[in-house]
Amino acid sequence: MPEKADVAVIGAGVAGLTTALRLAEGGCSVLVIDQGDPFRGGSGVNAGTLALQNKNAELILFYQRAIAEWRRLDQALDRDIGYVCRGGLRVAESKDEAETLRREVVRQKELGIETEWLEGNRLRHHAPWLGSSISCATYCVDDGFASPLLAGRALVKAALGAGVGVATNREFLGKSTTPNGYRLDTSAGPVECGDVVIAAGAWSGRVAEHFGVTLPVECHVNMLSVTRRIAQFMDNQVVTHIGGRLTLKQYPNGSCLLGGGWRGEGGIETGRKDLNCERLQQNLRLHADVVPPLKDATILRTWAGFEAETPDHWPIAGGFDGHPRLFVAVPAKAGFTAGPIVGRLTAEKLLTGEMPPFARPMDPERFLH
Ligand SMILES: Cc1cc2nc3c(=O)[nH]c(=O)nc-3n(C[C@H](O)[C@H](O)[C@H](O)COP(=O)(O)OP(=O)(O)OC[C@H]3O[C@@H](n4cnc5c(N)ncnc54)[C@H](O)[C@@H]3O)c2cc1C
Repeated sequence: MPEKADVAVIGAGVAGLTTALRLAEGGCSVLVIDQGDPFRGGSGVNAGTLALQNKNAELILFYQRAIAEWRRLDQALDRDIGYVCRGGLRVAESKDEAETLRREVVRQKELGIETEWLEGNRLRHHAPWLGSSISCATYCVDDGFASPLLAGRALVKAALGAGVGVATNREFLGKSTTPNGYRLDTSAGPVECGDVVIAAGAWSGRVAEHFGVTLPVECHVNMLSVTRRIAQFMDNQVVTHIGGRLTLKQYPNGSCLLGGGWRGEGGIETGRKDLNCERLQQNLRLHADVVPPLKDATILRTWAGFEAETPDHWPIAGGFDGHPRLFVAVPAKAGFTAGPIVGRLTAEKLLTGEMPPFARPMDPERFLH
């Protein structure tokens, strides 16, 4: 007998689980299927940065809402998600970078984002641990981070508690339509459902093909490193770089996480996510120049993961006019930050047929015309 649910969600990452949770709260029976374990795709291997000021002007108000959704989740979930919001610094080295940073802070202030300009003694007083190559920085109170590990556990527990079925090691293979919706073929037998939500991260384009829909989701391989624990020196602030090549934070336990979107090798076609050691060295050298105390830190582990990206950098959230029972929840770049709000918006679209005006740029229909 096929399993049955009102809604089947394909993908148990941050987007799929937050969609499922909201749908269950809205009264639907929901089954989430994942080809592996939950929160083991991009959601399980990312840096957990929830930064606001490093987003471009077009997207920044959306990311402000995305971070507010994390704050809401932090209150609503009954388990710790490791959410820390001690603000963040966005640093500049060269003269050109300093000018770009100054232009951006003016624009951000116009948009109502709280950012503060720091240079000279004020900067050194605020962050004595920054290297001499840093000429200026902006400080934003909204920058923070959450723990992917803790957030994953909390979301799975909340979803199960709300009655969501979470089926692991169950790959979606194809679909047929039925009078009441879809019958999904999976590696562990069929699932009958009314509606389907594609929340398969970097794999979403592939999954969408089965439904006759084109989603131009690219897959990037992104590298990260973590250090052994060292004495607290950054007061849990996040550091990002106007050049976009560095994201750094120190967890409350003392270990530092070093990222910045440096590309590894591979892709979903081969399933490989390998390190590129030359780029990794450049990434680590940059971190040590910007924050010299890291020169004494030992790298404990480096890894790579798959990240989805869209051509216009906006997430994909909502449904299709021509496929009334098909929905998509794919956060793009900085997708961990965007995941919960993308999940909630997609669930609202399915439940009510409506999306708020600010969500229009995320409409999946934009790729069809
Ligand atoms: C190294 C790295 C660092 C990052 N750092 C940050 C950061 O600091 N801040 C930030 O905001 N973002 C960051 N990101 C991006 C972020 O991790 C992702 O965009 C986000 O987690 C994507 O969530 P998701 O739920 O859309 O996808 P995923 O978490 O990838 O979940 C998709 C799920 O779909 C499942 N799936 C796929 N195909 C099928 C199928 N056919 N059948 C069944 N299941 C299927 C997969 O197994 C997977 O579990 C980073 C990404 C990487 C790789």
